[in-house]
Amino acid sequence: ETGKAVNILVSEGGDDIAKYSGAGVLKHPLKPFFVVPTTAGTGSEVTSVAVITDEKKGLKLPFTSSFLLPNAAIIDPRMTLTLPPHITAATAMDAMTHATEAFTCMAKNPLSDAYATAAIKKISRNLLKVMDNPKDETGRLELAQASTMAGIAFSNSMVGLVHSLGHATGAICHLPHGLCMSLYLPYVLEFNLESIREPLGELLLYIEGPEVYSATPAARRAEASISALRQLRDALHKRCELPRTLKETGKVLESQLELIADVALDDGSIMFNPREVSREDAMAVLKRAWA
Ligand SMILES: [Zn+2]
Repeated sequence: ETGKAVNILVSEGGDDIAKYSGAGVLKHPLKPFFVVPTTAGTGSEVTSVAVITDEKKGLKLPFTSSFLLPNAAIIDPRMTLTLPPHITAATAMDAMTHATEAFTCMAKNPLSDAYATAAIKKISRNLLKVMDNPKDETGRLELAQASTMAGIAFSNSMVGLVHSLGHATGAICHLPHGLCMSLYLPYVLEFNLESIREPLGELLLYIEGPEVYSATPAARRAEASISALRQLRDALHKRCELPRTLKETGKVLESQLELIADVALDDGSIMFNPREVSREDAMAVLKRAWA
């Protein structure tokens, strides 16, 4: 995302990036843009968006334009071999959230579904393996591919409430994006459950594999998907102390939850959440994620 912002300024001139924030504000193609992702998470190499934090104002500025799409990306898993474990974990959970929200949001479609399910399968099969053996190049390649595929998935559909809450929390409390995704994903899926029971149940096949899927009655698959994601979150905590609750991060005050809810309701991703979200709903999810 930083590279995209730099390309805007290098191409358009000036030093005020906020001027270009919004959808469709850029009017001309930018300079040729080649990217080499250094994490396996954002999928930014295949998206037309960037999110940049205004630290002074405590805001996340969104940038959306087809001109932000890189000309080419080099997906090289060697770039992630030396990532600290908590960054491997948090960024992979960002990719997992991109795919899960793409598969359950209002704009889901057969094309995004194909990429989303393939990405979820790769992350589920490889993330803990890579956490246990960080130099596993094959596993790293799988995570890198999953991140790109999850980026394609949500670029062809959308994300939802996990991202709205995550953008707000990142801006207000300066928590890394991937960590926010990991903290909110299970609770947002619980909140959305009755609107997404079928697709979420389908995801169990990709999260847990065919044996668990076929042994789980159809009526319980959606809940089983949520508990599998919660188990993954707990397994990551065990390996690298990735926080499981907002309180555990040590960077969020309970008194900030109201503000997070307000900012999240203004975030663009919330429009595509499969269930309408009131302020009370957002607060209820935040309280569940608190501790
Ligand atoms: Zn994300």
